[in-house]
This record gives sequence, structure tokens and C-alpha cells, in this order.
Amino acid sequence: HIPAFQKALSVIKRIESHGFQAFFVGGSVRDALIGREIGDVDLASSATPVEIMNIFDKVIPVGMEHGTVIVRYDGESYEITTFRSESEYQDYRHPDKVEFVTDIKKDLARRDFTINAIALDKNGDLIDPFHGQQAIQGKKIQAVGNPYERFEEDPLRIMRAVRFVSQLGYSIEEETRAAVQKQGPLLEKIAVERIAIEFEKMFQGNQLVQAIEICEDASLFQYFPIFRHYPDLSNDAKRIPYPFADFAEIISFFVHCSPELSVDDWTRQWKLSKQVKNDARAIHNAIQYYQDNGLDDWLVYQLPEKLTKPFSRVTGVLYSRDSAKLCEDVKMKREKLAAHNRSELAFQAKDLFDIFPNKPRGPWIGKLLGTIEEKVVSRELKNDYNEIKEWVIKWNPPGRD
Ligand code: ATP
Ligand code: MG
Repeated sequence: HIPAFQKALSVIKRIESHGFQAFFVGGSVRDALIGREIGDVDLASSATPVEIMNIFDKVIPVGMEHGTVIVRYDGESYEITTFRSESEYQDYRHPDKVEFVTDIKKDLARRDFTINAIALDKNGDLIDPFHGQQAIQGKKIQAVGNPYERFEEDPLRIMRAVRFVSQLGYSIEEETRAAVQKQGPLLEKIAVERIAIEFEKMFQGNQLVQAIEICEDASLFQYFPIFRHYPDLSNDAKRIPYPFADFAEIISFFVHCSPELSVDDWTRQWKLSKQVKNDARAIHNAIQYYQDNGLDDWLVYQLPEKLTKPFSRVTGVLYSRDSAKLCEDVKMKREKLAAHNRSELAFQAKDLFDIFPNKPRGPWIGKLLGTIEEKVVSRELKNDYNEIKEWVIKWNPPGRD
């Protein structure tokens, strides 16, 4: 009865009409059974990527060699992965050989945890050879098969176990937990980019503290950039009472906890994008300003609108403020701003040229406009052409320099 599945049903039926099998798998089946909001709907099929490309018009080959394509259908995207089994992971990144198989059960066997190894067919019947439903009942994260071997094959699964603790509020089954403890050092071999994805998801969960405690017990922080040299940061992490949305929030929080580290140190060592760096910087700058001046018009003016919530969330934790209230305050102040950006100023560069026709152009223009901007936003000057002009002439008499 889930709308996302209803829509995807026609994709499954279409694959089946060509003589192949297809199932819902992975996180969406798990989340539907739990009653959580489902994210992406992933499909597994006996059809190979080439066969899928022959069935659908719009197919994006994202990982042909692993058997993965994205199908665009009825305005939605579906990741379809060919049934496969995986054996050796010698470089700890990609399976040595990907073997396509014809049986969904073999495909389920290569998946990480029993809760993630359930398939759902078009009639709503579940294929659950590893008793994933039982694990959901018992709120347990349990490796499919021997956990020591599964973590050896792909140590990233250790990180995934921990982030599911945070996201689902489950505990890790005993033997799997022991394998987390034992195999932790294998994380050394995992690319930081892959660790970063799971680490970020850990902070997006509601049970961060439990997850952090497992990382502490299993000594995993030594495999995380920055944390390996600043182990006390794990205590700060435990102060975070609600989910953070992304790395920009995570970083601006921790930079405040350990100011000797910069936003750049974080994004460089975690190998994050420029986008994350820019957002983290903007949030960080706003928090610094807030610390000295509180919430005023100038802060709101400088804070990009899309960072209103991130700023409020992080400031809420750092200064024990109600983040929802803070967010509302920012929005209200933003509505009443004298100007929202430079183009809304009643006085522009060309107006300066009118007053100082003979003065050669240079950095003074930007500097003066910056001062005007600050005075207008903080209401020391009205956003009015004549008033600003008067002020400019008073403090910068023409011909003085
Ligand atoms: P999310 O809701 O965060 O997307 P997910 O369980 O769907 O969680 P994905 O990374 O989207 O996680 O992976 C989809 C499925 O692929 C998983 O449910 C699991 O069955 C399988 N899977 C993903 N990563 C691994 C891995 N490293 N080892 C084994 N199976 C994996
Ligand atoms: Mg998923």
C-alpha cells in the first residue's frame, strides 16, 4: 500500500513481462516493514544491465561492472542491480569478481545485515531466508552469515552497523558486536570517502549517543580523520541531542568545540566537497558572530537563507537554545531586513561615480559600498538614496584625496 512501491510496481511488471525476475530489496523493504519513511526504492533483477537497457528507454549506466544501472521511469529513478554474489575483496574496495547469479536468495546472501537482506515480490510476498523480519522484531543488527568474514570482506560494514544503531535505534547482535570489536582495525584499509558517507548518516540518526559509545568501546575513532588526533571530541559528540542534517553542521559544531582546528582542516582531511566547505564556513562565521553580538540584523543578512536551519540547529546545541525558536527568530528578522542583498541598496556603484567623477576606480568603491551596506542593514542609515548620498558626501568630501 506504499505509494513509492505502487509506482515501482510497473517497473517490476515490465521487467517480468520480458521473462526476467525483479524484486524490491534493501533499505526500502526494511524501512517499509519497520514503518519508517522510505528513501530510495532499490530493485534487484535477474536481468543483466544490458538486458535492462533493452527494456527501458532511459537507463543510466552508473556501475555496469557491478551490475548496477539507474532506470528513469514515470518521473522517478530506480537503482536496479543484477542478482550477484561476491567473493574476494582483496583491495578492500571492490569485489575481485562480480558473479551474476540467477537466484534472488544468492543475491540476498551477499548483503550486509539480515534486516537488509529481505526481498519483496510484486504480490507483496517476502523472501526472507535469513530471518530479517525476526531481527526487525528484536531490533537487532545481525550480519548475514559469519560476521568476522563479512567484515573482513568489506570492513565498511562495521561503519554501516554503527550508523544503523543510530538511525534505527537497534542494538548489534552479540556475535556481530564481537566482530565489530575484533575487526575494527580493518577500517584502516577503507577509503575515507566511503567512511565519510556512513559517518554522516550516523549523525543523521536519533540514537547518536549509543552509536558513539559503540565506536568508543570498539576503539573506532582512531580510524576517523581528525578524531584520531582529538579523541576528546567523541565526548562533545555525545552532547548532540538531535539529528544533524549533514557534514556542514557536523563540522561547524566540532570546530566550535576545538577552535585550533579550522573548517578547512576538517574538509581536507575528510576529503569533502567545496560545497560542504563553503556551507560549514558560513555556519561557523555566523556562530562566531552570534557569540559576540547575539542575533541581530547583520548576522541574519550575512547568513545565506538556506543555512537558517543548520545555523539554528548547531547554535541550539552549543548555546542550549531552543533551535526551533531560534530558527523562527531568524526568519522573522529576515522578513523585516532593511535590505536582503547589495542589489537592494538604494545606492549603487554608479551613484558613487556620479559623486566622484574624477576619482580613479579602485578598492575604495567596494570598501565604501560595504560600509553603506552595513549601516543600512544595521539601520544606522535609512535605505534611501538622498540620505545615503548626504552621508557619503559628509564623510568623504569630494576632492579630499
Ligand atoms: P539507506 O536507507 O541509508 O539507503 P540502505 O540499507 O538502503 O540504507 P544502501 O547503501 O542504499 O543502504 O544499500 C542498499 C542495500 O545494498 C543495503 O540494504 C544492503 O542490502 C546492500 N548493501 C549496501 N552496502 C553494502 C555492503 N557494503 N555490503 C553488503 N551489502 C551492502
Ligand atoms: Mg538505500
